[in-house]
Amino acid sequence: MSAGFTPEIVAEAGVVGAGGAGFPTHVKLSAKVDTIVLNAAECEPLFHKDKELLKHFPELVIEGFLRSQELVGARRAIVGIKGKYEDVLEAMRRHGAGRIEVVPLEDCYPSGDEFILVYDTVGRVVPPGGIPLAVGVVVINVETALNVAQARETPVTEKFLTVAGAVAEPVTLRVPVGFSIRECVQAAGGLTVDRPCYFLGGVMMGVMVTEPDTVVDKTLGGIVVLPEDHILAVRRRQDWRQIVRIGRSACDQCAYCTELCPRWLLGHPIEPHRAMRSLGFNLVGQANVAGTSFCCECNLCSLYSCPEDLDPKNVCAENKRRLAAEGKRWQNPPFDPRRAELHLRNRRAPMERLIHKLGLQEYPNVGPLVDKNFKPKRVGIRLKQHVGAPCEPLVRVGQVVEKGEVVGRPPVLNGKAALGAPVHASIAGTVIKIEDGVVWIEAHPEKQE
Ligand code: SF4
Ligand code: SF4
Repeated sequence: MSAGFTPEIVAEAGVVGAGGAGFPTHVKLSAKVDTIVLNAAECEPLFHKDKELLKHFPELVIEGFLRSQELVGARRAIVGIKGKYEDVLEAMRRHGAGRIEVVPLEDCYPSGDEFILVYDTVGRVVPPGGIPLAVGVVVINVETALNVAQARETPVTEKFLTVAGAVAEPVTLRVPVGFSIRECVQAAGGLTVDRPCYFLGGVMMGVMVTEPDTVVDKTLGGIVVLPEDHILAVRRRQDWRQIVRIGRSACDQCAYCTELCPRWLLGHPIEPHRAMRSLGFNLVGQANVAGTSFCCECNLCSLYSCPEDLDPKNVCAENKRRLAAEGKRWQNPPFDPRRAELHLRNRRAPMERLIHKLGLQEYPNVGPLVDKNFKPKRVGIRLKQHVGAPCEPLVRVGQVVEKGEVVGRPPVLNGKAALGAPVHASIAGTVIKIEDGVVWIEAHPEKQE
């Protein structure tokens, strides 16, 4: 089916994890494993991009997934998708009959976390500090598979994303890489609030920005627009001193944050309530909370579990950063995979309840794919859209580029290309500026709308 298809083709097309992580896909597909899993769990509240891709392009996604399976030499190819999407599940079973296994997942958060997904689909527990490869599994995202299917003919110059929240018509779009957040919001019918903020990548694990000229990159799965006084926006603006002061005085050590932590439930030695306790003793970053190194920053403890609305996630994340900066690493951490068997199934965070807790229930939880033919006047191509080293620009100001042309490549260090993936022009035009790690391209007038 895919004679001559190699990881180098995937690398040259600039394919990276499209679900948010941005790990270069050709590196993942150079491994050898017995199982490959398609991550269609998509669990950021209000996001619908992956489900829409499976609905509209099932054959292409399966083709990319099977090509990936061949590259990693896996015996089993498993699709993990929410059981509630019955029509999509059925379509996957029909198109992939005899080639893929389809596993229905609960509608919970964080079912798209790779460690949780591997447990739910394959029944293996990834050890603390490890990656799915450690248990013979590679996980790829739906849109990543679609990009793999097209890699031989087309580099990654488009991005699918959901635009939801305070917009007139929540929607899933296909936009050129380098499009602006402002243009995405306009295409979703415009704002329904005066003073918006934008959660790029979702309210749980994404980043919040207020600048609408921020550009879309290859990893952005969606945008949730909220008014700036929404509780989620207010909490994002809390600084470290506030987090410490309130956490130190209000944490009652109930340990709900630990009891519902998905990584603790997998048997990992992460206990956010201990990190909170350390605040009272100014011990953040000390070895007694070394388990924070295994926090995946899913935000469940802060935004769902804690009855006091404290911020154990940021305390864990800060702890983790300081430990890493000091080179402190827990060697051979204790690990109890039986905990998953005992507790994981009974302690999930149902999506409906999570949406309610987050104060998002007033926003429609839909995002149908509307395929518009965007012709932007200008795009901004980030030189770093992946895990690894930023690309070095290959173009100069004034240069004319074609759509799909490489405009940046990872640097070569000690004779070897650094971890990363090339970036490509998403429109034909002229390079007008290279600034702050972004190559700006202006469209030729005859190609604009
Ligand atoms: S859930 Fe909240 S109050 Fe309870 S231990 Fe964790 S941070 Fe403290
Ligand atoms: S953010 Fe909280 S719930 Fe998520 S892994 Fe870290 S400690 Fe656990």
